[in-house]
Amino acid sequence: MHTFITKTHQEECVKAIQRLVQFPSVLNEGENGTPFGQAIQDVLEDTLKLTEELGFKTYLDPKGYYGYAEIGEGKEIFAILCHLDVVPAGVLDEWKTNPFEAVIDKNVIYGRGTQDDKGPSMAALFAVKALMDNGISFNKRIRFIFGTDEETLWRGLNRYTSIEEEATMGFAPDSTFPLIYAEKGLLQAKLVGKGDSNLSIEVGEAYNIVPGKARYEGELKEKLIAALHKHQFDFQEDDGIIVLGKSMHAKDAPKATNAIVRLAIALSECVDNPTLQFIAQSIGEDATGTHLFGKCLEDEPSGVLSFNVAGLTINDEKTEIRLDIRIPVLVNKEQLVDELTQKASVFGLNYEEFDYLAPLYVPKDSELIQQLMAVYHEKTGDTTPAKSSGGATYARTMKNCVAYGAAFPYTPETEHKENESMPLKDLFDAMDIYAEAIYRLASTHER
Ligand SMILES: [Zn+2]
Repeated sequence: MHTFITKTHQEECVKAIQRLVQFPSVLNEGENGTPFGQAIQDVLEDTLKLTEELGFKTYLDPKGYYGYAEIGEGKEIFAILCHLDVVPAGVLDEWKTNPFEAVIDKNVIYGRGTQDDKGPSMAALFAVKALMDNGISFNKRIRFIFGTDEETLWRGLNRYTSIEEEATMGFAPDSTFPLIYAEKGLLQAKLVGKGDSNLSIEVGEAYNIVPGKARYEGELKEKLIAALHKHQFDFQEDDGIIVLGKSMHAKDAPKATNAIVRLAIALSECVDNPTLQFIAQSIGEDATGTHLFGKCLEDEPSGVLSFNVAGLTINDEKTEIRLDIRIPVLVNKEQLVDELTQKASVFGLNYEEFDYLAPLYVPKDSELIQQLMAVYHEKTGDTTPAKSSGGATYARTMKNCVAYGAAFPYTPETEHKENESMPLKDLFDAMDIYAEAIYRLASTHER
């Protein structure tokens, strides 16, 4: 094992973070003809300038969607997937310092982006700088890819992947060590059909929430109460009926109780409506999709499918069911969509995709994971295994990429919060791990 990082690299990394945090790179769509705002354009250009100063070759997408900085030789690309946009500062009064001026206090650096993702990006960048200063030569091109709207719609990286060269392997320093190697595909879809003049239902919040309440108001109130009693479903009464469930994040749908499904089950016994029948009979109170698809869809890396009926609209003009489906990494999405489309069509409902994030999956026995885990273990002594679930990171955008640091399991989670910060020790430890990992995976050293 090596120690490539010197005090100078640590100091330069901190200075670079301070330089980038100054840009309030919050999405401001279309400002001055830029895709995501002037500050995002500026931080992208300045980051490329910084990497050029360090000796990297750079490329700026003429449309301003992404940029990259590259060092090394070879056919293959080792990608480091970073993002330069940040979430808004939040409540300014809550901040002890200016969010857009990185300040160090008691060996912790504060400022928006210090943890997510300017700090980790610079830790990885100066890890490579340290390798360069140690005279290490690379057998792959190390490419830092800088995305610009990670906190929103990933249009920057989506444009990158649609026109640029694919990476051979890589990581996103935008999560927690040790690493995340599997994350379910995320499908959000609508089933749309004709209206029903006898019903007026508008329930559900965001796609990623299991509805804990579902309200009905109308003439079927008495019948509905009887049906709810029969099923022993909880409800409250006001002018209408509020069916009660248990709300949770959609990824945990099988552990929640879906109020929309319960309303549909009870109401389908009071009125003849194919959409209610579809929810009640075909989906039922089974948020794993087992009842709907006729088998339990699950795999070892990522567990069981989750199926959330997130929203329901029925009025005289249209019907719409909104679904959030989290698909195990080894399950075929197209086949699943075909089955759903076919089953819904029987009830007069048409399938429409709303959004889809491909799964992340790199087998645990791959060289990438073996090496990244070995380096983490050797450097920290921590034997925590690789995880199969976490937040969605850019690692999903390319094959053979995982999320790897830069926070440690014990680092206070401050991303997206006021007083976002990163302990310098954790930042420097991450740098040390990144340097060793990139040395092993992308340099011409003797094995
Ligand atoms: Zn991030």
